[in-house]
Amino acid sequence: MEHVDPAVIKRSDTRSGCLCEFCKQLDPHFPKRRPIDQLVASNRKHTASAHFTEDGYVRHRVLELSRIAARLPQSAA
Ligand SMILES: [Zn+2]
Repeated sequence: MEHVDPAVIKRSDTRSGCLCEFCKQLDPHFPKRRPIDQLVASNRKHTASAHFTEDGYVRHRVLELSRIAARLPQSAA
């Protein structure tokens, strides 16, 4: 009865995703990412681990870390 093609599952997965608001706001290169790298699972919070791809995850983490670093007081330069 049910012929579930893995590719279709993947596609519907992607459709259930939404743009990561966090990355969208903080990454100036966000529009240049592959569409799949911009998406997070829509039923999740917009965290690094909600990203569908390794690349999206890494970029999100980098943004988080750079934001933390920016908040730290600059020590004697
Ligand atoms: Zn993100």
